[in-house]
Amino acid sequence: MTSFEYGNFDKFDYKYTIEYDIRTLSPLSIRSGESFLGPIDNPIIRINFNGKTVPYIPGSTLKGIFRSETEKLARSLSKDPSIVCDILNPRGENGELKRKKDAENNEKTKSIYLPCLICRIYGGPTYASHVYFYNAYPKENSYSIGLIRRVSISRITGSQMPGRLFDCEFVTPNSLFHGKVVIENIDILSPITDSLSESSLFNRVFSNFTKGLIPIGGMRSAGYGDVKIENIKVNKMYILEGKLDTKDVTNEYLSIIGV
Ligand SMILES: [Zn+2]
Repeated sequence: MTSFEYGNFDKFDYKYTIEYDIRTLSPLSIRSGESFLGPIDNPIIRINFNGKTVPYIPGSTLKGIFRSETEKLARSLSKDPSIVCDILNPRGENGELKRKKDAENNEKTKSIYLPCLICRIYGGPTYASHVYFYNAYPKENSYSIGLIRRVSISRITGSQMPGRLFDCEFVTPNSLFHGKVVIENIDILSPITDSLSESSLFNRVFSNFTKGLIPIGGMRSAGYGDVKIENIKVNKMYILEGKLDTKDVTNEYLSIIGV
């Protein structure tokens, strides 16, 4: 078994690359969150890609969804509240910086500080990520953009405000994006068990993602953001007898995540 040196990435053991397509099953709404003055009040996020301005799904959006799904899962599997640190408050009682400082101030625990399980997968204030989500870009001519005119609802009375219409963009259902995630030094070919391990947690979330159980983007409560994952390819890169080698492990991985 590999010896992990937490927080130290100089040591390369192995790396998995999962490539996949995301097919939208309902409208997809990912916005930049910035106010925008233009013909459309609520544009979707776009980027320049291969000489065109196209909608995309940011890697940070995908990573955020995976992190929060993994947190939920870890909490459901463990009664220990410290299983998931308070990522928004790193200096607070259950924050990673506080936990590290406490461990270092205690002679007995000095050498065994470990970030919480979630930071060990996705990174945190004390620790680099083992998982890198790349932006998912639309496949050639495989998307379209729709526009819906919505009515403003008064925050005060909860009723429609006459004359206050705004246009909202979305990516239409049946659009296709291509994405990639790289996982370093977490052995995702380990079978899924009930254990609270990095690979089990990541694989369960990835399995739910491929089965269409994890919607993405905004307005999810209104049925937006349903997606299905297709065309998964998994590659393992590792060092064998001092040489870098790669291997297609797609079938092995699909059977592990039950797809
Ligand atoms: Zn943490």
